[in-house]
Amino acid sequence: MPLSDYPRVSLAHLPTPLEFLPRLTKHLGGPNVYVKRDDCTGLGTGGNKTRKLEFLMADAIKKKADLIITQGAVQSNHARQTAAAAAKIGMKCELVFEKRVADATTAYKESGNVFLDKLFGANIHEVANGSDMTKEMEDLSDQLREKGSNPYIIPGGGSNPIGALGYVDCVIELIAQAKSKDITFDSIIMATGSAGTQAGLVVGSKITKSNIPVLGVGVNAPKEAQEEKVFKLASDLSDFMGLPSLVSRDDIVANCDYVGDGYGIPTLGMNKALLQLARLEGLLFDPVYSGKGLAGMIDLIGKGYFENQKNIVFIHTGGAAGLFAYHDILET
Ligand SMILES: *Cc1c(COP(=O)(O)O)cnc(C)c1O
Repeated sequence: MPLSDYPRVSLAHLPTPLEFLPRLTKHLGGPNVYVKRDDCTGLGTGGNKTRKLEFLMADAIKKKADLIITQGAVQSNHARQTAAAAAKIGMKCELVFEKRVADATTAYKESGNVFLDKLFGANIHEVANGSDMTKEMEDLSDQLREKGSNPYIIPGGGSNPIGALGYVDCVIELIAQAKSKDITFDSIIMATGSAGTQAGLVVGSKITKSNIPVLGVGVNAPKEAQEEKVFKLASDLSDFMGLPSLVSRDDIVANCDYVGDGYGIPTLGMNKALLQLARLEGLLFDPVYSGKGLAGMIDLIGKGYFENQKNIVFIHTGGAAGLFAYHDILET
């Protein structure tokens, strides 16, 4: 079914800008680097989850839900955008947080995204690291249903075929912008976590027949596991859209060499990339996702990975609201 036939609510400021980064490009001496400003989607300080939520919240409305349940890490950008979307639509929001980061600072536990979640009126439930998050959400849903609510569960990161439609749309938007600037892209790069963004981008790249290679930079899982996760979701998404076998395993590439010691744990490369972009381009990235993605892209440019490529685009997935939770960990 074509994208325009899926139920959708307007939550994001679209199209997001496509910008050339002249000073970073010159500094790195590789291909022309562009950035697609999905950090500027607008809702609750913006980020990549807002495009997914346009489709997910429309589905929740269709199912007559009055309450949204979702999950993530304590500093989840997805949870923050979901809390804002629920507020805007007039639904309650329950957030289940996995205490994924050991020895968290007070800022991590209380500032950044968590602070905004509370401003948006969401209820927070914390569970231990390693909990079965799907079961935690289902148990909460059962309890709330008994009390008369009609909950709608959004998976972590908004990553299911409905949410991933948002990134099919992003490719269509990106290609129209590139055309109007009279350029073509040789690579799309972004941070990959719960896989919905990359899965949507890969399917979008196929549907538009632009066939731009998509490179995910992992922030959590090892390469094989991350690629399998993206491949499964991209396959489910293409089935969901009535285009089976659109994606092959070779279309899915994740580089997981930049995770460092684990999810949410800062790396030197990330910290350096964050400072470079702040000082060369006045742009803010986050330490958990977009900063590690950026660290990967910068290192790979240095290693000649994009040799013979003219223009590459980094999808800026946002996350700067989380910066305040890390101020005492990051070097400035
Ligand atoms: C969630 C998130 C990602 C990863 O997107 P997925 O669709 O979960 O793979 C990247 N960057 C930021 C800032 C995010 O919040």
